[in-house]
Amino acid sequence: MNSTHIPFFEQVNRHFDRAAALSKYEPGLLTQIKSCNNVVHIAFPIKRDNGTIDVMHAWRAEHSSHKLPVKGGIRYAPHVSEDEVSALAAMMTYKCALVDVPFGGAKGAVRIDRSRYSEAEIERVTRRFTFELAGKNFIGPGIDVPAPDYGTGQREMSWIVDTYMAVAGNQLDSAGCVTGKPLALGGIRGRTEATGRGVFFGVREALADPHFIASTGLEGGVEGRTVVVQGLGNVGYHAAKNLTAAGARLVALAEREGAIHNPAGLDLEAVIAHRSESGSILDFPGATNLPTTLAALEVECDVLIPAALENQITAENADRIRARVVAEAANGPVTADAHEQLTGRGVRVIPDLYLNAGGVTVSYFEWVKNLTHVRFGRMDKRFEEASNVRIMSAVQELTHAKLDDARLAAITAGGGEAELVDSGLEDTMITGWQAVSEAGRRLGVDLRTAAYSISLDKIAGSYMERGIFP
Ligand code: NAD
Repeated sequence: MNSTHIPFFEQVNRHFDRAAALSKYEPGLLTQIKSCNNVVHIAFPIKRDNGTIDVMHAWRAEHSSHKLPVKGGIRYAPHVSEDEVSALAAMMTYKCALVDVPFGGAKGAVRIDRSRYSEAEIERVTRRFTFELAGKNFIGPGIDVPAPDYGTGQREMSWIVDTYMAVAGNQLDSAGCVTGKPLALGGIRGRTEATGRGVFFGVREALADPHFIASTGLEGGVEGRTVVVQGLGNVGYHAAKNLTAAGARLVALAEREGAIHNPAGLDLEAVIAHRSESGSILDFPGATNLPTTLAALEVECDVLIPAALENQITAENADRIRARVVAEAANGPVTADAHEQLTGRGVRVIPDLYLNAGGVTVSYFEWVKNLTHVRFGRMDKRFEEASNVRIMSAVQELTHAKLDDARLAAITAGGGEAELVDSGLEDTMITGWQAVSEAGRRLGVDLRTAAYSISLDKIAGSYMERGIFP
């Protein structure tokens, strides 16, 4: 059976089952871990600008409340369903466990084709959805904390926090009800780019790992590697930007309207500028238009990065993929059957569970900032700088060497919020890679099964220590 037709949640469960088969946990516990704890489907009206009324359908799935709050993005897309949000919520549970973010998993969605709605209408949809979630106790800093996902960003998060504050009253920690907010509303530096930057750190770690590299036949390192990116949104853009800054060559790009190819390399910023001028990435000077958007996935390259939506590499096109590594920046871009086909052919898949965990990691930092009500680095930046200056003065005195002011300032600078967030993100992606790579070798399994296996052990451990109530 073609896995494109297998429900998304069932596909996530297939990955889970493969890891579960390696474990000795009681079957009932495994079933509990897999089950989606709460799902709410809301139908609510919104008034269109022309005075007519539309009924919107929206969902919030809370997959596992073994840790609270639960956490996961809200997406706005035309074809979302309860199955999709449940699958994505389950992935959030496993992702958080994998990278030690102390949350359960959740996901939300509004079924909407954004291009058919004005900004004012989208604001009304967002505010009404938030109001509905608040009324059902499906949002709150200690309960359930949404974030941006496909089709949403800072602007929607602003409307969510503002509506929640209006509904919840003057609660001290209200700003922590959602992450991915603008700075002025309690957001954190580095959240917008976090997922794509995390993708870069993950790919960098993989390409620096001799065990991984040996299995790909590639040369090590990011520099000089050829890369294809599908989806130039938040995640795809920042992944491409960081990878090209580190010396990778972008040979093909795909967006909704089509795909372009240039083996000599595409200039990312020039493509973005061309798209904002012409409305399309097609006909970019020096590049060839590919016959279809999906054709970009079949371009020969070292690393293929699907960063748009799920179900892009399926049983139908998996055998035509010519990348050595598929780096899953999106959630679920490779179906369960396609995963087997790719790994069977020796194509290495860096799994979504690990690779796009940078977003929720920095969301976690934002939430901590909101609860502590103090910016990271505010207390210690100058203190750290002063200590470094004292150490460097002593070193210069003892060695009779003198550094110029610019070098001294660079060496002694203390970390502000942006530096600390980036450091925490990088550390998470490095330790995450080491854990997944080591588990893969120890268990003799692919990296996805290894990632699920690590998560499963952590979640099962947490259930067993707490016991089952009553
Ligand atoms: P986004 O809306 O910012 O960008 C998605 C991009 O994909 C858009 O530019 C869209 O036009 C493009 N696209 C849509 N259909 C396409 C197609 N068929 N071919 C090529 N491009 C297409 O969304 P995002 O936040 O970048 O999310 C992308 C993926 O990453 C989703 O799977 C999401 O769940 C996942 N993700 C996002 C975050 C985050 O922090 N935003 C975190 C983890 C995972």
